Amino acid sequence: MSSKKIFLKQGRGKTLFYRHPWVFSGAMDQERMPELEAGEIVEVCDSGGNFLATGYFNPLSMIAVRILSFDRDDVIGREFFVKRVREALAFREKYMDLSDTNAFRVVFAESDMLPGLVVDKYDDGLVLQVHTLGMDKLKGVVTEALVEVLKPRFVYERSDVSARKQDGLNDMPRGVLYGEYDGGLVEVKENGVKFMVDVAGGQKTGFFLDQRENRAAAAKYAGGKKVLNLFSYSGGFSVYALRGGASHVTSVDASAEATELCGKNMELNGFAPDMHTEVTADVFAFLDKAIAAGEKYDLVIVDPPAFVKSQKSVNNALRAYSRLNKMAMDVLAEKGTLISSSCSHYVSPEMFKSALFQAALHARRDLRVVETKAQPADHPVRLFFPEGEYLKFFVLGE
Ligand code: SAH
Repeated sequence: MSSKKIFLKQGRGKTLFYRHPWVFSGAMDQERMPELEAGEIVEVCDSGGNFLATGYFNPLSMIAVRILSFDRDDVIGREFFVKRVREALAFREKYMDLSDTNAFRVVFAESDMLPGLVVDKYDDGLVLQVHTLGMDKLKGVVTEALVEVLKPRFVYERSDVSARKQDGLNDMPRGVLYGEYDGGLVEVKENGVKFMVDVAGGQKTGFFLDQRENRAAAAKYAGGKKVLNLFSYSGGFSVYALRGGASHVTSVDASAEATELCGKNMELNGFAPDMHTEVTADVFAFLDKAIAAGEKYDLVIVDPPAFVKSQKSVNNALRAYSRLNKMAMDVLAEKGTLISSSCSHYVSPEMFKSALFQAALHARRDLRVVETKAQPADHPVRLFFPEGEYLKFFVLGE
Protein backbone atom coordinates (compact mmCIF):
# COMPACT_ATOMS: atom_id res chain seq x y z
CA MET A 1 0.00 0.00 0.00
CA SER A 2 1.43 3.36 -0.94
CA SER A 3 1.75 6.04 1.75
CA LYS A 4 -0.22 9.25 1.88
CA LYS A 5 1.37 12.46 0.65
CA ILE A 6 2.27 15.60 2.53
CA PHE A 7 2.96 18.72 0.45
CA LEU A 8 5.41 21.38 1.54
CA LYS A 9 4.78 25.08 1.05
CA GLN A 10 6.50 26.69 -1.90
CA GLY A 11 10.26 26.98 -1.33
CA ARG A 12 10.25 24.96 1.90
CA GLY A 13 11.80 21.77 0.50
CA LYS A 14 15.36 23.09 0.46
CA THR A 15 16.64 21.39 3.59
CA LEU A 16 15.43 18.04 2.29
CA PHE A 17 17.49 18.56 -0.87
CA TYR A 18 20.60 18.56 1.23
CA ARG A 19 19.30 15.63 3.21
CA HIS A 20 18.49 17.23 6.50
CA PRO A 21 16.07 14.73 8.03
CA TRP A 22 13.47 16.98 9.70
CA VAL A 23 10.30 18.64 8.40
CA PHE A 24 8.91 21.29 10.73
CA SER A 25 5.13 21.64 10.97
CA GLY A 26 5.32 25.24 9.66
CA ALA A 27 6.76 24.04 6.35
CA MET A 28 3.75 21.88 5.51
CA ASP A 29 0.87 23.05 3.35
CA GLN A 30 -1.97 22.62 5.85
CA GLU A 31 -4.65 23.01 3.18
CA ARG A 32 -3.51 19.92 1.38
CA MET A 33 -3.00 17.74 4.47
CA PRO A 34 -4.50 14.26 4.24
CA GLU A 35 -6.06 12.61 7.23
CA LEU A 36 -3.17 11.00 9.12
CA GLU A 37 -2.61 8.93 12.20
CA ALA A 38 0.19 9.79 14.60
CA GLY A 39 3.25 7.80 13.59
CA GLU A 40 2.01 7.04 10.09
CA ILE A 41 4.53 6.66 7.27
CA VAL A 42 4.16 9.51 4.76
CA GLU A 43 5.63 10.62 1.48
CA VAL A 44 6.90 14.22 1.57
CA CYS A 45 6.52 16.15 -1.70
CA ASP A 46 7.42 19.67 -2.77
CA SER A 47 4.64 22.09 -3.63
CA GLY A 48 4.70 20.81 -7.21
CA GLY A 49 4.08 17.25 -6.06
CA ASN A 50 7.60 15.92 -6.67
CA PHE A 51 8.83 13.22 -4.30
CA LEU A 52 11.39 14.43 -1.74
CA ALA A 53 11.51 11.84 1.01
CA THR A 54 9.71 9.24 3.13
CA GLY A 55 9.32 9.56 6.89
CA TYR A 56 7.02 9.19 9.85
CA PHE A 57 4.50 11.80 10.86
CA ASN A 58 3.72 13.12 14.32
CA PRO A 59 1.16 15.96 14.73
CA LEU A 60 2.19 16.41 18.38
CA SER A 61 5.81 17.27 17.65
CA MET A 62 7.34 20.48 16.28
CA ILE A 63 9.25 18.16 14.00
CA ALA A 64 6.20 16.93 12.14
CA VAL A 65 8.04 14.44 9.93
CA ARG A 66 11.32 12.69 10.59
CA ILE A 67 12.83 11.32 7.42
CA LEU A 68 13.77 7.68 7.03
CA SER A 69 14.71 7.68 3.36
CA PHE A 70 15.42 9.95 0.41
CA ASP A 71 15.11 7.05 -2.02
CA ARG A 72 11.66 6.70 -3.54
CA ASP A 73 12.16 2.96 -4.08
CA ASP A 74 12.51 2.27 -0.34
CA VAL A 75 9.52 0.61 1.28
CA ILE A 76 9.59 1.08 5.05
CA GLY A 77 9.54 -2.43 6.46
CA ARG A 78 11.76 -5.24 7.64
CA GLU A 79 14.02 -5.32 4.56
CA PHE A 80 14.52 -1.57 4.76
CA PHE A 81 15.66 -1.77 8.38
CA VAL A 82 17.91 -4.74 7.63
CA LYS A 83 19.59 -2.57 5.00
CA ARG A 84 19.93 0.42 7.34
CA VAL A 85 21.37 -1.67 10.20
CA ARG A 86 23.81 -3.38 7.80
CA GLU A 87 24.96 0.04 6.56
CA ALA A 88 25.39 1.32 10.11
CA LEU A 89 27.37 -1.77 11.12
CA ALA A 90 29.56 -1.62 8.02
CA PHE A 91 30.49 1.99 8.84
CA ARG A 92 31.60 0.98 12.36
CA GLU A 93 33.54 -2.00 11.05
CA LYS A 94 35.26 0.21 8.52
CA TYR A 95 36.19 3.13 10.75
CA MET A 96 36.64 1.57 14.19
CA ASP A 97 39.27 -0.79 15.50
CA LEU A 98 37.05 -3.55 16.85
CA SER A 99 39.83 -6.07 17.47
CA ASP A 100 39.78 -5.46 21.22
CA THR A 101 36.40 -3.74 21.61
CA ASN A 102 32.99 -5.40 21.76
CA ALA A 103 30.89 -2.51 23.07
CA PHE A 104 29.82 0.22 20.70
CA ARG A 105 26.83 2.17 19.39
CA VAL A 106 25.43 0.35 16.38
CA VAL A 107 22.74 2.92 15.55
CA PHE A 108 22.95 6.63 16.36
CA ALA A 109 19.55 7.95 15.30
CA GLU A 110 19.53 10.63 12.58
CA SER A 111 23.27 10.15 12.05
CA ASP A 112 22.44 6.69 10.71
CA MET A 113 19.22 7.81 9.03
CA LEU A 114 17.17 6.05 11.70
CA PRO A 115 15.64 8.97 13.61
CA GLY A 116 14.43 8.26 17.13
CA LEU A 117 16.45 5.05 17.44
CA VAL A 118 19.58 4.28 19.43
CA VAL A 119 21.07 0.79 19.58
CA ASP A 120 24.08 -0.06 21.73
CA LYS A 121 25.93 -3.35 21.57
CA TYR A 122 27.40 -4.83 24.76
CA ASP A 123 29.25 -8.01 23.83
CA ASP A 124 26.49 -10.14 22.27
CA GLY A 125 23.62 -8.22 23.87
CA LEU A 126 21.82 -5.27 22.31
CA VAL A 127 20.17 -2.37 24.11
CA LEU A 128 17.56 -0.46 22.18
CA GLN A 129 16.27 3.00 23.01
CA VAL A 130 13.32 4.61 21.25
CA HIS A 131 12.79 8.37 21.50
CA THR A 132 9.88 9.05 19.17
CA LEU A 133 6.32 7.95 18.55
CA GLY A 134 6.97 7.06 14.91
CA MET A 135 9.90 4.83 15.80
CA ASP A 136 7.94 3.32 18.68
CA LYS A 137 5.40 2.02 16.17
CA LEU A 138 8.22 0.43 14.18
CA LYS A 139 9.89 -1.17 17.20
CA GLY A 140 8.78 -4.71 16.36
CA VAL A 141 10.09 -4.71 12.82
CA VAL A 142 13.29 -2.90 13.88
CA THR A 143 13.93 -5.60 16.51
CA GLU A 144 13.47 -8.30 13.86
CA ALA A 145 16.00 -6.54 11.62
CA LEU A 146 18.50 -6.21 14.48
CA VAL A 147 18.18 -9.91 15.26
CA GLU A 148 18.65 -10.84 11.61
CA VAL A 149 21.78 -8.72 11.11
CA LEU A 150 23.50 -8.95 14.49
CA LYS A 151 22.24 -12.30 15.83
CA PRO A 152 22.34 -11.08 19.44
CA ARG A 153 21.82 -13.17 22.55
CA PHE A 154 19.19 -10.65 23.62
CA VAL A 155 17.63 -7.31 22.77
CA TYR A 156 16.76 -5.26 25.84
CA GLU A 157 14.77 -2.05 25.71
CA ARG A 158 15.83 0.98 27.76
CA SER A 159 13.39 3.61 26.54
CA ASP A 160 13.30 5.35 29.91
CA VAL A 161 14.06 8.76 28.42
CA SER A 162 12.16 11.96 29.11
CA ALA A 163 12.48 13.05 25.44
CA ARG A 164 9.60 10.68 24.68
CA LYS A 165 7.18 13.07 26.42
CA GLN A 166 7.85 15.80 23.85
CA ASP A 167 6.81 13.35 21.20
CA GLY A 168 3.54 12.52 22.92
CA LEU A 169 4.62 9.23 24.46
CA ASN A 170 3.73 8.87 28.11
CA ASP A 171 5.26 5.49 28.83
CA MET A 172 8.93 4.68 29.36
CA PRO A 173 9.18 0.97 28.62
CA ARG A 174 12.03 -1.26 29.75
CA GLY A 175 12.35 -4.97 29.27
CA VAL A 176 13.45 -7.88 27.13
CA LEU A 177 12.28 -7.68 23.50
CA TYR A 178 14.11 -10.76 22.30
CA GLY A 179 16.16 -13.64 23.70
CA GLU A 180 17.14 -14.11 27.30
CA TYR A 181 18.64 -11.63 29.70
CA ASP A 182 18.49 -12.01 33.46
CA GLY A 183 18.93 -8.30 34.22
CA GLY A 184 22.48 -8.74 35.54
CA LEU A 185 25.79 -7.10 34.69
CA VAL A 186 27.27 -7.71 31.23
CA GLU A 187 31.05 -7.90 30.85
CA VAL A 188 32.48 -6.04 27.86
CA LYS A 189 35.89 -5.05 26.63
CA GLU A 190 36.88 -1.69 25.28
CA ASN A 191 40.36 -1.22 23.82
CA GLY A 192 41.25 -4.34 25.82
CA VAL A 193 39.99 -2.84 29.09
CA LYS A 194 37.27 -4.83 30.85
CA PHE A 195 34.08 -3.30 32.20
CA MET A 196 30.95 -4.60 33.87
CA VAL A 197 27.95 -2.81 32.41
CA ASP A 198 24.63 -2.47 34.22
CA VAL A 199 22.39 -2.73 31.19
CA ALA A 200 19.12 -2.93 33.12
CA GLY A 201 19.75 -0.45 35.91
CA GLY A 202 22.66 1.79 34.86
CA GLN A 203 22.52 5.29 33.41
CA LYS A 204 21.56 5.72 29.74
CA THR A 205 21.91 2.25 28.21
CA GLY A 206 24.46 1.27 30.85
CA PHE A 207 27.75 2.80 29.72
CA PHE A 208 29.07 6.04 28.20
CA LEU A 209 30.34 4.54 24.97
CA ASP A 210 30.90 7.97 23.43
CA GLN A 211 33.98 8.60 25.61
CA ARG A 212 35.82 5.45 24.44
CA GLU A 213 38.52 7.18 22.42
CA ASN A 214 38.73 10.05 24.87
CA ARG A 215 39.35 7.63 27.73
CA ALA A 216 42.19 6.11 25.69
CA ALA A 217 43.55 9.62 25.07
CA ALA A 218 43.38 10.42 28.80
CA ALA A 219 45.43 7.32 29.67
CA LYS A 220 48.42 8.84 27.83
CA TYR A 221 48.68 11.63 30.41
CA ALA A 222 48.29 9.45 33.51
CA GLY A 223 51.72 7.78 33.80
CA GLY A 224 53.05 8.11 37.38
CA LYS A 225 50.35 10.64 38.23
CA LYS A 226 47.98 11.13 41.13
CA VAL A 227 44.62 11.35 39.38
CA LEU A 228 41.22 12.78 40.34
CA ASN A 229 38.29 11.60 38.20
CA LEU A 230 35.19 13.73 38.77
CA PHE A 231 31.74 12.41 37.73
CA SER A 232 33.36 9.01 37.40
CA TYR A 233 30.21 6.88 36.89
CA SER A 234 31.37 3.25 36.64
CA GLY A 235 35.02 4.27 36.43
CA GLY A 236 35.61 4.55 32.68
CA PHE A 237 38.37 7.16 32.91
CA SER A 238 39.61 5.74 36.24
CA VAL A 239 40.41 2.28 34.87
CA TYR A 240 42.14 3.77 31.82
CA ALA A 241 44.18 6.09 34.04
CA LEU A 242 45.50 3.15 36.06
CA ARG A 243 46.18 1.26 32.86
CA GLY A 244 48.12 4.30 31.71
CA GLY A 245 50.34 3.96 34.78
CA ALA A 246 48.72 6.33 37.29
CA SER A 247 50.05 5.92 40.82
CA HIS A 248 46.59 6.44 42.37
CA VAL A 249 43.09 7.38 41.22
CA THR A 250 40.32 8.97 43.26
CA SER A 251 36.90 8.61 41.63
CA VAL A 252 33.98 10.81 42.69
CA ASP A 253 30.33 10.33 41.78
CA ALA A 254 27.04 11.19 43.49
CA SER A 255 25.59 7.77 42.78
CA ALA A 256 26.45 4.99 45.24
CA GLU A 257 25.61 2.33 42.62
CA ALA A 258 28.09 3.99 40.25
CA THR A 259 30.97 4.17 42.73
CA GLU A 260 30.33 0.56 43.76
CA LEU A 261 30.50 -0.55 40.15
CA CYS A 262 33.61 1.62 39.69
CA GLY A 263 35.31 -0.35 42.48
CA LYS A 264 34.27 -3.62 40.81
CA ASN A 265 35.71 -2.49 37.48
CA MET A 266 39.02 -1.63 39.14
CA GLU A 267 39.16 -5.13 40.61
CA LEU A 268 38.12 -6.74 37.33
CA ASN A 269 41.18 -5.20 35.68
CA GLY A 270 43.48 -6.40 38.44
CA PHE A 271 44.29 -3.13 40.19
CA ALA A 272 45.21 -3.39 43.87
CA PRO A 273 42.85 -1.75 46.40
CA ASP A 274 45.52 0.73 47.54
CA MET A 275 45.73 2.20 44.01
CA HIS A 276 42.21 3.56 43.97
CA THR A 277 39.63 5.27 46.17
CA GLU A 278 35.94 5.64 45.34
CA VAL A 279 34.04 8.50 46.93
CA THR A 280 30.24 8.80 46.83
CA ALA A 281 29.70 12.56 46.99
CA ASP A 282 28.44 15.62 45.21
CA VAL A 283 31.42 16.85 43.16
CA PHE A 284 30.96 20.48 44.17
CA ALA A 285 30.90 19.57 47.88
CA PHE A 286 33.90 17.27 47.40
CA LEU A 287 35.86 20.05 45.68
CA ASP A 288 34.93 22.62 48.33
CA LYS A 289 36.45 20.36 50.98
CA ALA A 290 39.48 19.41 48.88
CA ILE A 291 40.23 23.08 48.14
CA ALA A 292 39.91 24.01 51.82
CA ALA A 293 42.26 21.16 52.74
CA GLY A 294 44.78 22.21 50.06
CA GLU A 295 44.65 18.82 48.26
CA LYS A 296 46.37 18.65 44.88
CA TYR A 297 46.20 16.19 41.96
CA ASP A 298 48.50 15.94 38.93
CA LEU A 299 45.71 15.01 36.52
CA VAL A 300 42.10 16.09 37.02
CA ILE A 301 39.34 14.71 34.78
CA VAL A 302 35.98 16.50 34.64
CA ASP A 303 33.14 14.80 32.77
CA PRO A 304 29.80 16.04 34.13
CA PRO A 305 26.33 15.16 32.83
CA ALA A 306 24.71 17.57 30.36
CA PHE A 307 24.07 20.85 32.18
CA VAL A 308 21.65 22.19 29.62
CA LYS A 309 18.64 20.59 28.06
CA SER A 310 17.37 23.63 26.15
CA GLN A 311 18.61 26.69 24.28
CA LYS A 312 17.20 28.94 27.00
CA SER A 313 19.47 27.74 29.77
CA VAL A 314 22.75 27.96 27.83
CA ASN A 315 24.06 30.95 29.78
CA ASN A 316 23.41 29.27 33.11
CA ALA A 317 25.17 26.16 31.85
CA LEU A 318 28.21 28.15 30.75
CA ARG A 319 28.43 29.72 34.19
CA ALA A 320 28.18 26.25 35.77
CA TYR A 321 30.94 24.92 33.50
CA SER A 322 33.19 27.81 34.33
CA ARG A 323 32.57 27.51 38.09
CA LEU A 324 33.14 23.75 38.04
CA ASN A 325 36.32 23.96 35.99
CA LYS A 326 37.66 26.80 38.14
CA MET A 327 37.24 24.57 41.18
CA ALA A 328 38.93 21.69 39.34
CA MET A 329 41.87 24.00 38.54
CA ASP A 330 42.11 24.90 42.21
CA VAL A 331 42.96 21.28 43.06
CA LEU A 332 45.29 20.91 40.08
CA ALA A 333 48.94 20.64 41.10
CA GLU A 334 51.46 22.98 39.52
CA LYS A 335 52.39 21.75 36.03
CA GLY A 336 49.28 19.61 36.12
CA THR A 337 46.96 18.41 33.36
CA LEU A 338 43.23 19.14 33.26
CA ILE A 339 40.91 17.08 31.10
CA SER A 340 37.54 18.71 30.66
CA SER A 341 34.56 17.44 28.74
CA SER A 342 31.03 18.59 28.01
CA CYS A 343 28.18 16.62 26.47
CA SER A 344 25.68 19.51 26.42
CA HIS A 345 24.31 19.65 22.91
CA TYR A 346 23.50 23.39 23.07
CA VAL A 347 27.03 24.35 24.11
CA SER A 348 29.30 24.65 21.05
CA PRO A 349 33.03 23.88 21.27
CA GLU A 350 33.72 27.63 21.11
CA MET A 351 31.29 28.36 23.93
CA PHE A 352 32.81 25.61 26.03
CA LYS A 353 36.28 26.97 25.39
CA SER A 354 35.12 30.39 26.54
CA ALA A 355 33.83 28.82 29.78
CA LEU A 356 37.27 27.23 30.26
CA PHE A 357 38.82 30.64 29.57
CA GLN A 358 36.70 32.18 32.34
CA ALA A 359 37.67 29.36 34.69
CA ALA A 360 41.39 29.78 33.98
CA LEU A 361 41.10 33.53 34.41
CA HIS A 362 39.58 33.17 37.87
CA ALA A 363 41.92 30.35 38.87
CA ARG A 364 44.91 32.29 37.49
CA ARG A 365 46.18 29.31 35.52
CA ASP A 366 47.87 29.81 32.15
CA LEU A 367 46.69 26.56 30.59
CA ARG A 368 47.37 25.54 27.01
CA VAL A 369 45.38 23.23 24.78
CA VAL A 370 47.29 19.98 24.40
CA GLU A 371 44.64 17.96 22.60
CA THR A 372 41.01 18.32 21.56
CA LYS A 373 38.69 15.49 20.68
CA ALA A 374 35.02 14.92 19.98
CA GLN A 375 32.82 11.96 19.08
CA PRO A 376 34.03 8.58 17.87
CA ALA A 377 32.93 6.89 14.65
CA ASP A 378 30.07 5.04 16.35
CA HIS A 379 28.53 8.43 17.22
CA PRO A 380 29.14 9.98 13.81
CA VAL A 381 28.12 13.51 12.88
CA ARG A 382 26.57 13.76 9.42
CA LEU A 383 27.60 17.00 7.76
CA PHE A 384 23.96 17.32 6.71
CA PHE A 385 22.82 16.87 10.32
CA PRO A 386 25.04 19.06 12.50
CA GLU A 387 22.52 18.65 15.36
CA GLY A 388 24.15 15.26 15.98
CA GLU A 389 27.28 16.93 17.35
CA TYR A 390 27.44 17.27 21.12
CA LEU A 391 30.66 16.00 22.69
CA LYS A 392 33.57 18.31 23.56
CA PHE A 393 36.83 17.13 25.08
CA PHE A 394 39.85 19.28 25.94
CA VAL A 395 43.20 18.29 27.38
CA LEU A 396 44.77 21.37 28.95
CA GLY A 397 48.25 21.53 30.34
CA GLU A 398 50.91 23.72 31.86
N1 SAH B 1 32.97 9.83 32.87
C1 SAH B 1 31.98 8.78 32.91
C2 SAH B 1 30.60 9.28 32.54
C3 SAH B 1 30.07 10.37 33.43
S1 SAH B 1 28.34 10.56 33.35
C4 SAH B 1 32.42 7.63 32.00
O1 SAH B 1 33.41 7.75 31.27
O2 SAH B 1 31.76 6.58 32.03
C5 SAH B 1 28.02 11.71 34.59
C6 SAH B 1 28.05 11.17 36.01
O3 SAH B 1 27.90 12.28 36.89
C7 SAH B 1 26.93 10.21 36.41
O4 SAH B 1 27.50 9.03 36.86
C8 SAH B 1 26.17 10.92 37.56
O5 SAH B 1 25.82 10.02 38.60
C9 SAH B 1 27.19 11.88 38.06
N2 SAH B 1 26.71 13.11 38.69
C10 SAH B 1 25.75 13.95 38.28
N3 SAH B 1 25.69 15.05 39.06
C11 SAH B 1 26.65 14.90 40.00
C12 SAH B 1 27.12 15.69 41.10
N4 SAH B 1 26.58 16.89 41.35
N5 SAH B 1 28.13 15.23 41.83
C13 SAH B 1 28.69 14.03 41.56
N6 SAH B 1 28.31 13.25 40.54
C14 SAH B 1 27.29 13.66 39.78
